[in-house]
Amino acid sequence: MTIALSMLSTGISFLVLVLIFRPLERCFPAKEQAFFRPAWLTDLAFMLGQYLFWTGMVFATLAFLGNHLTAFIPDGFHAAVREQPWWAQALEVIVLSDVLIYWGHRLQHRIGFLWRFHAVHHSAEHLDWLAAHREHPLDTLYTVGLINLPAFLLGFPLETLAGLVAFRGLWAIYIHSNVNLPLGPLRMLIGAPELHHWHHDRARDAGNYANLSPLMDLLFGTYRHPGHEPEAFGVKEPMAHSYPGLLLDPFRKKR
Ligand SMILES: [Zn+2]
Ligand SMILES: [Zn+2]
Repeated sequence: MTIALSMLSTGISFLVLVLIFRPLERCFPAKEQAFFRPAWLTDLAFMLGQYLFWTGMVFATLAFLGNHLTAFIPDGFHAAVREQPWWAQALEVIVLSDVLIYWGHRLQHRIGFLWRFHAVHHSAEHLDWLAAHREHPLDTLYTVGLINLPAFLLGFPLETLAGLVAFRGLWAIYIHSNVNLPLGPLRMLIGAPELHHWHHDRARDAGNYANLSPLMDLLFGTYRHPGHEPEAFGVKEPMAHSYPGLLLDPFRKKR
């Protein structure tokens, strides 16, 4: 894709996201917050970096790794998977992927080396649809790799899962948005911004690690819904503030 074309598609994605999320944030705000809140430009830089450069790099790296992983899959395994009814295959992919990413995410909060990269996402002190894009590219590689690993191992090519990947992407943006919809108990099944906002509480072990459905948090005892917004978002340790600074932050010697 030419640079002009990818810039055009990035511009269109930005407009579509504004058109979807801005009215929601105006009508059902979780907190009083201006559109151009502090660090807006930093998060915009993360979005542009992701759309114009990093996402392509991440998928190229995963395709490369995938080609090498294929050698370890026993002959006939994919054929056996495909003999099952379609709904069983779909269920396996979604459940395995949710279990894997739930524990993968908990490890990011537990292991210092993984936290260095994941802390970039948590350094956001203002949450909205744009802050969802604040993610270190190596964190994206880890997360997208884990989410898609079961589908890959079971023999589903990435392209057939494009719909699910796109839906997950949009949902990830939604749960960061400055929105509080009156969903009631439905939030336990499909997730909600007020749950993920608590995940962004300054306490590193605040809970709500699930990616799509909070069922994993309910199952493993990390579901948290105090019924109000956290006082402050962010991390306790000192971190860089600029886009280049945050990209380099995981490699800095930590005090
Ligand atoms: Zn996290
Ligand atoms: Zn988040």
